[in-house]
Amino acid sequence: MKPLIAGNWKMNGTSGSRSEVEKLIEIFSGSAPEAVDVLICPPVTLLREFSMGFSDDGFEFGAQDCHAAQSGAHTGDISAQMVVDAGGSHVIVGHSERRADHQESDAIVKAKAEAAQGAGLIPIVCVGESETARDAGHAEKTVLAQLAGSLPEDRNGLVVAYEPIWAIGTGKTASTDDIAEMHAAIRRIVGDKVRILYGGSVKPDNASEILATANVNGALVGGASLKAVEFAAIIQAADA
Ligand code: PEP
Repeated sequence: MKPLIAGNWKMNGTSGSRSEVEKLIEIFSGSAPEAVDVLICPPVTLLREFSMGFSDDGFEFGAQDCHAAQSGAHTGDISAQMVVDAGGSHVIVGHSERRADHQESDAIVKAKAEAAQGAGLIPIVCVGESETARDAGHAEKTVLAQLAGSLPEDRNGLVVAYEPIWAIGTGKTASTDDIAEMHAAIRRIVGDKVRILYGGSVKPDNASEILATANVNGALVGGASLKAVEFAAIIQAADA
């Protein structure tokens, strides 16, 4: 399965950040490696500019969230159709930061994923356990319950990201044994065609090992996706 390396810029970046994407494209001499799908999810304010300016180079762009409704009285939200209109191909749904900051339940995440598919986007559905759940020995049970509640019925083109909450932005990563075990459990649920990404402090120095782990089909990268040189090194690890 072709790996997907997806960058989640979170609430970072203004128009000056365009230079970071230019630098990334320059590192790859103008086009993304053929063996890797590369996606950047900047703040939605930059999506149109990036997708119009850089899509010809094989880099794809997406959003970090969308609303489940097509339009209406939802101040501050954006719909999946708006993401498509801005040139997005993917949308992250159910990131743990949104689940925590905006009280998003599995049912809301599922509705967002279905709305994304309805608009022609590929949803990246995020799941992951807290440190408390892992310490209590409930990591797999937690993740499988999230999957049961969050995944859309249509698995076509779907991407799942396993992101242990305690590994996001902390510099801690799950061991490759733990990643392999969780990804195998997710694989049993989602079948052979769904890409399963790992996310949680993926950096240039751990990317090769993580990406070589069974059932890891790419990475969702936060902090390291903000720096072209670091993100490029992770893409190169997937291209090896
Ligand atoms: C993320 O935001 O999805 C993420 C994995 O962040 P980081 O790589 O910074 O841990």
